[in-house]
Order: sequence, then C-alpha cells, then structure tokens
Amino acid sequence: SSPSAPTAATGPSPLSGHALPSYLDPAHLGPWGDYLQQIDRVAPYLGPLGRWIETLKRPKRSLIVDVPIRLDDGRIAHFEGYRVQHNTSRGPGKGGVRFHQDVTLAEVMALAAWMSIKNAAVNVPYGGAKGGIRVDPKTLSLAELERVTRRYTSEIGLIIGPTKDIPAPDVNTNERVMAWMMDTYSMNVGETATGVVTGKPIDLGGSLGRREATGRGVAIICTEAARHIGLELQGARVALQGFGNVGSVSAKLLAQAGVRTVAVQDHGGTVYHGGGLDVAALTAHVAAHGSVAGFEGAQALPSDSFWDVECEIMVPAALERQITEANAQRIRARMVIEGANGPTTPAADDILNERGILVIPDVIANAGGVTVSYFEWVQDFSSFFWNEEEINQRLAQILRGAFEAIWEVASEHRVSLRTATFIVACRRILHARELRGLYP
Ligand code: GLU
Repeated sequence: SSPSAPTAATGPSPLSGHALPSYLDPAHLGPWGDYLQQIDRVAPYLGPLGRWIETLKRPKRSLIVDVPIRLDDGRIAHFEGYRVQHNTSRGPGKGGVRFHQDVTLAEVMALAAWMSIKNAAVNVPYGGAKGGIRVDPKTLSLAELERVTRRYTSEIGLIIGPTKDIPAPDVNTNERVMAWMMDTYSMNVGETATGVVTGKPIDLGGSLGRREATGRGVAIICTEAARHIGLELQGARVALQGFGNVGSVSAKLLAQAGVRTVAVQDHGGTVYHGGGLDVAALTAHVAAHGSVAGFEGAQALPSDSFWDVECEIMVPAALERQITEANAQRIRARMVIEGANGPTTPAADDILNERGILVIPDVIANAGGVTVSYFEWVQDFSSFFWNEEEINQRLAQILRGAFEAIWEVASEHRVSLRTATFIVACRRILHARELRGLYP
C-alpha cells in the first residue's frame, strides 16, 4: 500500500517505512479507531511517559490462524482465528476468546488493547490480549464446536501458556470451551496445565465466583457510582442491553440492591415492564429459548425504542458501538455502566458527557471478570483454593479501591471517568515499559 499521511489518531509518522501499518488505515478501523481516539485523549496527561505512547497504538503481536475442521457431514470447513497480544509490559497477555461471525482482526486488536488498560486499571499483573474465531457457533453441532475450539487452541498454542498469555471466556464461549482449550493445550505440552486458561469448570481448577464475577463487578461499581452522584438504588430503574453472562447476573445482583429491571434488549428482541421484569423468570426463558423475545411477563418493544426507555441506569452488556451519535441524545438514564467492551463511541461519549450523564467505562465497570480470573490463575499456580466469600470480598476490595482512585483523578484533572481510567492505566503500563527499557 502507498504511504499515506498520518492521521490525527496516530500522531507523527514513526521512522519505519510506511507511515501507517495496514490496520491503521482509517477506512476500516472499527472499534480499533475508537480505541485510538481514547488513547489520544489521554496523551496530554502522561508527562514524560508520553514518549512511549506509540507502544500503545500498535499491538505487540498479532497471530492470524486458519482453523480447518471436518463437519459432521464429512465436508471440510475453514474458519479464521486470531490471537492478539496488545501489550505485555506488566506481565503475560490476558483476555478472553470470542466466537462470533462478525469478529475481525481490527476488532480483536481493540479488545486486546482494552484488556491492557483494564488489567492495569485494577492493577492485576497482566498485559492485554484477546482472541476470536470468525464463526457463528449457533451453526455448529457440539462436536463441531469442540473440533473448532481444539484446532484453534493448537494453532495459537505457539504463543499462549500459563506464563505467556492466558485466554478466558468472552462472547459465546464458556466453561465447557475453556475445558477443551485447557485439555488441548495440556495434551500438546504433555502435562496438565490448568493455568493456561481461566473461567474453567470448578472441578478442573476453576474458581468459585468466576462465572458471576463480571456481573458482580458491574453491581459493585454501580453501587459506588450511585453513592457518588447521590442516586438511591432502592427503587431505581435499569435498562439492560444484552442478557448473557454479564447482563443477567448484573440484573440479578442489582435486584438485590432494590433496582428494578424495566427493559432488556438482546439479539432477538426487546422486552419492557415498567413495574420491573421478573429477572429469574427471564433468565429461565432465555436459557430455554435463546433470547428474551417472547417472554410472557412483559411488553414487546420495537428495538429502536430501547434508547427512549425512562430509567436511572443503563447497562450496555452486549457488543461494541451500540451507543452512537444516532442515539446518545435520546438516552434518559443518569448513568451508563458499560458491561460490554467498547459499547460507546467517542462521539457518543462526548454527547453523554455534555448532557451530564455519567459514563462508567468498560475498563473499570466490567473488570470484575478478569479480576477473578487473576484469582483463579493464582489458585491454580499455588494449588490452594479459596472459598467464595474470600473471593467476593477480595473482588469488592480491588474494584472499590480502583474506582475511588479513578474518581479522584477525574476530579483532579476535570476529565471523564474514561480518560481518568486511561490516565491511571497508561501511566502504569508506560512506567513498566520505561523501567524495562527497550530491547535490544
Ligand atoms: N472476556 C472478559 C473481559 O472482556 C474476561 C477476560 C479474562 O478473564 O481474562 O474482560
């Protein structure tokens, strides 16, 4: 490709031939473009560490793999798989694996970068990584899903490992998939390596509390944020987008604090009940039917009306780029808590900010999952397992401490909570980078 002028998002051209690597081409940036804008916003607050910022604008290592499998009917199918290690200055790569038909390299790059920021924000000793397979798992049988998972794991086996890069669940992956990944990696290295993935079943070195950890973190952070803005949770209303592991557990735990779930939207439909949906019944409905659509104790809404729902709290807990310039003006919540990764575009962030709607960014709001993943990894290494109370208590302590520090930075510099989180995280990452020095 011909050298092009550097964009505002990438700064001065580095001294390396082409001005821009292909994945920085503004024509197909996607969520990676959102991430680059977020990094640009933090740059003025980094002082002398800013000389290392280019490090954060390019992933350390990106692997694209072909994943061929034999289908049940005998044909051979090929899927594209990725594992991106965005940064490893503070420790091994860490982040989930996503199975979705729309996954792209640029998306996985953004998700890996957000893991670097998240892990540094809560100060767990990891860099950031992410993986994915461009496949719709709903079109595969269980046996095909297992073969895809095992072949993918073998292919990325070159770069993962308990001290190198540790995958975990994400969209459309779960404990069962983690068990297959652990087994495949272990077979390839010739020893049982429980620490190579987190989010495993309890009987395979998994941790108590891991399955609920992301939703629990959302509820903890929601409680802290509500206290800061003087919002009474008892009787408050939440509208949730996404009712998978994150959305459903958030709804359940927020209900315990007196929050009513008034609307839920997922890939199949949108349901509404002003008096509050029965979260347990809705969870059972989704388990049986795969979507909230058709839930009896509710009114169905056209999907676009979700953004007009009157509520105090909105929790996007699905995919990236859901809150955009097109709907940010309509949102009626007092705060948005990002259970998903990257659900708000930078332009929408500004609109919400101007309207006085508090946005609690993904990189702290959904950090509960990776925090308990860290506990799981520590438990696997020491072969000593903690009880659930201890895990939940340590989780709450880490998240509350991190949130408090971020709130202070936001007040001190008069910046959004997102920029504040990036300030805290980027300082940690770049300080580690500087201490290690440039190799060779
Ligand atoms: N996929 C989750 C996330 O986006 C968890 C990652 C992990 O536990 O490593 O934060």
